[in-house]
Amino acid sequence: MKAMSNRAVAAVGNLIGGQWEAGRGTFPVYNKFTGDVIAEVGKASREDVERAVSNAWDTFRKERLTPQQRYDILSRAAELFMERKEELALTIVREGGKVLKDARMEVERGIQTFIASAEEAKRLHGSEVPIQGQPGSGDKLAFTIRVPLGVICAITPFNFPFNLVAHKIAPAIAAGNAVVLKPAGVTPQTAAHMANILLEAGLPPGFLNVVNGPGREIGQYLLGDPRIAMYTFTGSSEVGKQIKAGSGVRPVTLELGSNSPNIVHMDAPDLAKAAQLCVTRGFSNAGQACISVQRIYVHRDVYPAFLEMAVEAASKLNVGNPESERTDIGPMISEKEAERAEAWVREAVEGGAAVACGGSRNGAVLQPTIITGATSDMKVMCQEVFAPIVCIVPYEDFDEALRAANDSDYGLQAGLFTSSLQLALRAARELEFGGVIINDVSTFRADIMPYGGVKDSGYGKEGPKYAVEEMTSEKLVVIDI
Ligand code: NAD
Repeated sequence: MKAMSNRAVAAVGNLIGGQWEAGRGTFPVYNKFTGDVIAEVGKASREDVERAVSNAWDTFRKERLTPQQRYDILSRAAELFMERKEELALTIVREGGKVLKDARMEVERGIQTFIASAEEAKRLHGSEVPIQGQPGSGDKLAFTIRVPLGVICAITPFNFPFNLVAHKIAPAIAAGNAVVLKPAGVTPQTAAHMANILLEAGLPPGFLNVVNGPGREIGQYLLGDPRIAMYTFTGSSEVGKQIKAGSGVRPVTLELGSNSPNIVHMDAPDLAKAAQLCVTRGFSNAGQACISVQRIYVHRDVYPAFLEMAVEAASKLNVGNPESERTDIGPMISEKEAERAEAWVREAVEGGAAVACGGSRNGAVLQPTIITGATSDMKVMCQEVFAPIVCIVPYEDFDEALRAANDSDYGLQAGLFTSSLQLALRAARELEFGGVIINDVSTFRADIMPYGGVKDSGYGKEGPKYAVEEMTSEKLVVIDI
């Protein structure tokens, strides 16, 4: 096994038992704006994956971290992330194409995810079971304890390479598990930085192993290993379904895609603010967020004014180099993905829709695009667009808006702007989504909140408290006294 110097290749190998290894063969990581190769990543072989899982399995069985130790490690890691915030943000900018200000915000959010997870480490507890009231159990004492599951396999996407890895690693460690992480192949360096900082913060080697390589191949090795107790996956619905199918009776958390609807009713408290939020949150990270605003349903009385304000707000966005402080919208993850999105716009226009602004592409950079006249069967409406594209559609009455919002295979988060408490509560009940956000957009997420979808958007919840619950089991203890 060729070992790598921790310092030289820390960001681009496989971490097994606390050592970075070169793997078998390499694949490149590109700067998503310039197209330059910025790293060569060592690809894990089947045997490397097997050793990574073995190491996590052995560590979990032989070593135990107390809740206080877990709290200390995660808190210390949060401090170190803060010290290296700029370095981490620049890594996200270069390998992920995210604009600098958003990358900084992502690191800040990830730090909060670590802090909240550290706190959860101290709150794990079971409860007493009032068994003595049952006939025949009067001489018994029963209670539950929360125990870690064992080895957790975390598989993460490219679009939030820091915070979405944090949402898996930090609660898993807080709960006392060992982790094998497979980060997205296009953004592996951010995860490697995080792993190094965790080791520096005192995490004993073996509690976090990292393997890199093509998702389908590495995923197959990971899914085939019975020593893995749970899979926590964030990514596309297509892959999520494969993980659910391949994981047998083992628990899974699946955070998948969406085509989030946002309803702007005639009584929206501040129409200009709604338009501004829909545009900025629909286009931020080049629309590559699972809860990104995609379908905007606007009451016909306010539709013309809303459309005008949205187009104006979109035209003010600075598009281009993500390393510039001034840039609002950077490139998509690849030119191929930008071409795919551009083709969806073309298809919509051929079907009778119109482009109110944007629509043009330069390499991986797609101009923020607003489409009007789209119908529910067009890809830009019914599939996850995952690009800086929003559709604005007028509606006549509130029932119609709720029906249109629910007319989707997905159900992650929905937004609604209204001054009516009655309509807000009705929407909260009737919208078939994991979360309903009133007077803000579907893209709103505070990292401690319970987060997860229904339908093809997933299964299980994230947010440190909820992830810790998913990553532990409640074990019953009965004592004959
Ligand atoms: P993806 O599904 O292509 O890849 C996600 C991860 O899965 C990557 O690490 C990839 O290498 C791995 N993978 C690919 N094929 C695999 C397989 N057969 N078995 C196991 N692992 C495999 O997703 P992506 O393009 O990286 O990310 C975009 C998607 O993620 C979008 O659909 C988006 O909505 C979704 N997402 C969801 C959330 C959420 O919280 N619900 C958050 C962010 C992104």
